[in-house]
Amino acid sequence: KSKHIAIYGKGGIGKSTTVSNLAASYSADKDVLVIGCDPKADTTRTLVGRRIPTILDILKEKRDAQEEDVLFPGYGGVMCVESGGPEPGVGCAGRGVIVAMKLLENLEVFSRDPDVIIYDVLGDVVCGGFAVPLREDYADEVYIVTSGEYMALYAANNISKGIKKLKSNLGGIICNCRGIHRELEIVEEFAHQIGSKVIGVIPRSELVQQSEIHAKTVLEKFPESEQAQKYRELSKAVLENDDFVIPQPMDADEFDEFFRGFQ
Ligand code: ADP
Ligand code: SF4
Ligand code: MG
Repeated sequence: KSKHIAIYGKGGIGKSTTVSNLAASYSADKDVLVIGCDPKADTTRTLVGRRIPTILDILKEKRDAQEEDVLFPGYGGVMCVESGGPEPGVGCAGRGVIVAMKLLENLEVFSRDPDVIIYDVLGDVVCGGFAVPLREDYADEVYIVTSGEYMALYAANNISKGIKKLKSNLGGIICNCRGIHRELEIVEEFAHQIGSKVIGVIPRSELVQQSEIHAKTVLEKFPESEQAQKYRELSKAVLENDDFVIPQPMDADEFDEFFRGFQ
């Protein structure tokens, strides 16, 4: 059965890095499709080696865009799409996702049934568009990327409210470490509080930014590194995961109390 995975998290927390390295790992023996749903539109840059045009940009030029206009092959044959977003300050942030999903459906991209589809979605703002991948026909398992920082966990808690509302399946929390004191302990307790678990831990590593500068994933640039191995371990844990929950998010007071417990 094919895997349809959505990765959510606060802006700047490491979603795209995680998604692109997961995709690179799966590409070893699978057909993979990555759908960047963040208006930043840089999910697939390290897979393709450059920024690809977004669906919103392409549709401005060409009303009847075809598959080859919007799908770009990247590392390991991973197929890459960016939905795109509005100019900063004007327009609707979520429209890119809504338009992209409709176009991909019309082009019957989903009926080609890749082994793995990964959505990279910005989740720290309340936006109906960003919730679209959670709806039944798209992703059927969701993971949240967070560090142990207050704002990242605060966003993770809000995302789990959206997941609960749409009755989606939370597969776990990915701890992308910032290197703060008691970080894994904090993230593990957060996961426990909302009824979930930590499914993988990615250390902070300078190899991430060194790869990013060269527009490559860690798996491509430093395949033998320990960091690459961490992404492979995460990809395996996600692939083999069969434990899903509807999360039980904390209310604002509970959240503050939880976080204060670690100070
Ligand atoms: P998002 O997609 O959530 O906005 P990115 O994946 O673009 O976040 O990551 C934001 C920045 O953090 C990037 O410059 C990236 O290189 C860096 N980064 C992400 N994960 C790590 C890590 N594990 N170690 C070091 N730097 C990281
Ligand atoms: Fe657009 Fe709706 Fe998101 Fe507002 S909430 S930015 S209108 S998709
Ligand atoms: Mg990103």
